[in-house]
Amino acid sequence: MAPVNSRAAKPLAAAAIAQLESDGVATLIGTVVNSAGLTHAKTIPLRKMGAFADPGLGASPVWHVFTIDQTGIAIGDTLGVVGDQRIRIDLGALRILGDGLAWAPGAFYGQDGEPDPYCSRGTLARVERRLAEAGIAARVGHEMEFLLVGPDGSRLPAHLWAQYGLAGVLEYEGFVRDVTDSATSSGVSIEQFHPEYGVNQFEISLSPQSPVAAADQLMLARIIVGRVARRYGLRVSLSPVPFAGSVGSGAHQHFSLQKRDTPLFSDGSGARGMTPEGESAVAGVLAGLPEAQGVLCASIVSGLRMQPGHWSGAYVCWGTENREAAVRFLVGGTSNPLGANVEVKVVDPAANPYFATATILGLALDGIERELTLPPETAVDPSTMTDKQRADAAVTLLPTNQAEAVAALDGSALIRGILGDQAVDAIVAVRRYEQTTYGDLGEEELADKFRMAWSV
Ligand code: GLU
Ligand code: MG
Repeated sequence: MAPVNSRAAKPLAAAAIAQLESDGVATLIGTVVNSAGLTHAKTIPLRKMGAFADPGLGASPVWHVFTIDQTGIAIGDTLGVVGDQRIRIDLGALRILGDGLAWAPGAFYGQDGEPDPYCSRGTLARVERRLAEAGIAARVGHEMEFLLVGPDGSRLPAHLWAQYGLAGVLEYEGFVRDVTDSATSSGVSIEQFHPEYGVNQFEISLSPQSPVAAADQLMLARIIVGRVARRYGLRVSLSPVPFAGSVGSGAHQHFSLQKRDTPLFSDGSGARGMTPEGESAVAGVLAGLPEAQGVLCASIVSGLRMQPGHWSGAYVCWGTENREAAVRFLVGGTSNPLGANVEVKVVDPAANPYFATATILGLALDGIERELTLPPETAVDPSTMTDKQRADAAVTLLPTNQAEAVAALDGSALIRGILGDQAVDAIVAVRRYEQTTYGDLGEEELADKFRMAWSV
């Protein structure tokens, strides 16, 4: 993501403004996601669009460490109140939302125009470029699980509801229809949209795209769902565990890799048709998972979901279509037109999706570069294995303890090598703040307090 060249950007922006005006757009929203998974925004009148793209709008570096309790800032040695950065929107990713609004994802730059090392979108773009240099192209497909709640975050009645039930579709028919319509007109490609296991819980699966574009599409889908919910007097909880003791919401990420047009997860000689490099990629993700947990699913609420029996992939192992494995392999073939791919189930919606993808793909590349050996597949629910069987197969359980997950991230040279020290330090800072400020709260208090923390 090279900085936009200002001389080229200006006529481009003028033509784009004229086009958007004729489409009825008057206001532009630009968003960024921070290390706590919070989505921040600035809006401008359409005629100022060029300035939002280049030089960008000012923002304090502390945006990176705003915390999930609505007011906190995890200020540290390097991120403080001094300094200013620029958020630049990516005009190539701009989408029309309707009702006079358009949206574009933003990225952070220094005032000198250099990419900011704390920026999640910039970090993912960098990982995408590293893959390209190794001749590898990735496609990423996001799943978005969420819970519909009342405007005050309260639990809605569910007199008519069954797991994955038609009743949920019909109870929320207008919501489902409007989300689908808005997604279509904003260019969000939905693979499927259905009621989930939990009451008033839904899931949207998004079509795979290149990594940055896929994360942008997820952010746009969140905006669309949030806007339509409001139209029906509802709100959307993106908490990993909206209500203690109930079903959690994941933000599973699927990915596939291709090297010079050859898929790495199919038509190969290895396990389940993987190529040797495909096997090493999966091995890399598995090997790095305990250190990556701090990025993928380590908010103060996340541990409530990271339990066996929750389909959240709490066991570090891989298995074909195994929903209790942290890494689920999906074979290709006629029944899977999207092709063989790997699903990382542990990711939750409190994570920054750009950092999460950057971490997963960085680990996959690390596995390929180090030619890691793929451990044997786990073909059963790991909780049905004995302790000895699990120990023999090196199947471990991810910790539910936030402090443990964050310490593993903090000390990880591997993840620091992928995301950069600044990004890891910022993630560690916001999660440690959660731990020190709210670590004493019980499960119910935690779920209640942060139910709407990640909502947009
Ligand atoms: N809701 C589960 C989670 O927290 C996932 C259910 C599924 O496999 O779709 O990840
Ligand atoms: Mg699901």
